[in-house]
Amino acid sequence: GIRVRFAPSPTGNLHVGGARTALFNYLFARSKGGKFLLRIEDTDLDRSTKESEDAVLRDLSWLGLDWDEGPGAGGNYGPYRQSERNALYKEYADKLLQSGHVYPCFCSNEELEKMKETAKLKQLPPVYAGKWASATETEVQDELAKGTPYTYRFRVPKTGSLKINDLIRGEVSWNFDTLGDFVIMRSNGQPVYNFCVTVDDATMAISHVIRAEEHLPNTLRQALIYKALGFPMPIFAHVSLILAPDRSKLSKRHGATSVGQFKEMGFLPQAMVNYLALLGWGDGTENEFFTLEQLVDKFTIERVNKSGAIFDSTKLRWMNGQHLRSLPSEELTKLIGERWKSTGILTESSGSFVDPNPIGNSNEQEAVQLLKDGIDLITDADKALSNLLSYPLYSTLASPESKAVLEDKLSEVAASLLVAYDSGELISALEEGSAGWQKWVKSFGKLLKRKGKSLFMPLRVLLTGKLHGPEMGSGLLLIYKAGRCGVVAPESQ
Ligand code: GLU
Repeated sequence: GIRVRFAPSPTGNLHVGGARTALFNYLFARSKGGKFLLRIEDTDLDRSTKESEDAVLRDLSWLGLDWDEGPGAGGNYGPYRQSERNALYKEYADKLLQSGHVYPCFCSNEELEKMKETAKLKQLPPVYAGKWASATETEVQDELAKGTPYTYRFRVPKTGSLKINDLIRGEVSWNFDTLGDFVIMRSNGQPVYNFCVTVDDATMAISHVIRAEEHLPNTLRQALIYKALGFPMPIFAHVSLILAPDRSKLSKRHGATSVGQFKEMGFLPQAMVNYLALLGWGDGTENEFFTLEQLVDKFTIERVNKSGAIFDSTKLRWMNGQHLRSLPSEELTKLIGERWKSTGILTESSGSFVDPNPIGNSNEQEAVQLLKDGIDLITDADKALSNLLSYPLYSTLASPESKAVLEDKLSEVAASLLVAYDSGELISALEEGSAGWQKWVKSFGKLLKRKGKSLFMPLRVLLTGKLHGPEMGSGLLLIYKAGRCGVVAPESQ
């Protein structure tokens, strides 16, 4: 069956590159009815931390990429942490020693350094040229008797080549002559990374290895180990790098790069997943909006592009807006309402707008409906609401733009508006809701013999303090409910 894995090293946060690798593995498994495994590659004990492992697990879950086997999910191929698999690595290393694919190397670090320097002087590739590749049994036994520390070194054929058919990159081949015999187990018994990965992928019955392009050079060593152990090789698919807009490798200096940061900034997991999928993949149509389910439906590894994908945070933001607005209205109200409560923006405003119940509160629902088109991120909702409720009339009137638009129309409208406001006529119209507002605007326009822009622009400025904004009737209603309704006449500036 199809079995794929995501194998993060828990040495930091889940980066967007790692998240995309996880997503492609997930989509591949789910689209083919296979299994998606999570394996923690914590062989580097100094750099691996429990916090990082927890964060990676949490971020994957947040994205909705649930795994069938691995930490927290169980499975028959565990343990799923490399640090718990040492006995297995030792067992396979010894097997290779017995079959002669590996030999003990007693070279000291100084000797190895010297060999490297000699090779450099002679302009030869830095391949292992020590005597232990061809040592006799007696020489080996002598060193063992002396207790000399030794590594396990893999015997690489001196000539020949190997090729793989990468699902994304096509044919990739390597010559053996520059590789040299490499270490698979250090003298302290620590297995080396490439060896662990191979033993794990083989014993976890991984059928397809989908991973970042940067691991392509490791594939040669791993392929040689598969062959030596007699395991069938998985099919490889190396996904290209994620680049910054300037085509350099995406890094911290380009802004947020970890899934956790995007979560904190108010991005939705649906939008993250959708955007990550488009980094190197598309369904061949113009369509760019996909839910996770739709991605499972449409994904094929053959459509993954082999050139680098550019990470465009503006587009991610836009995409988040698309997903935000496609949420069911109750869900959106709940999300934004909770946000407003958590930042305190609702309690800042006075009057009936404050309501402890985020659902079923007509004010909140109205506010969300009114403001959602101007919101891409949940965190934008704060500014949108405070902007609606604020009344920066003086600065608005002082802007040259507003002066040009309004000129002398303002004072004429303002005088009548003040009358309507002071008499309570405008307020009772607002209290009747949207129909009341519309009726009032109509009669007010008749009174002043104005309509269209020449009526609405002065009204908007006078009543909301702004030149632009969402639909005025609903906006005003909210401002009124928030206890912030009023008219500021231009004379009082
Ligand atoms: N642990 C490696 C990483 O974090 C992944 C190795 C692999 O997928 O083979 O990049």
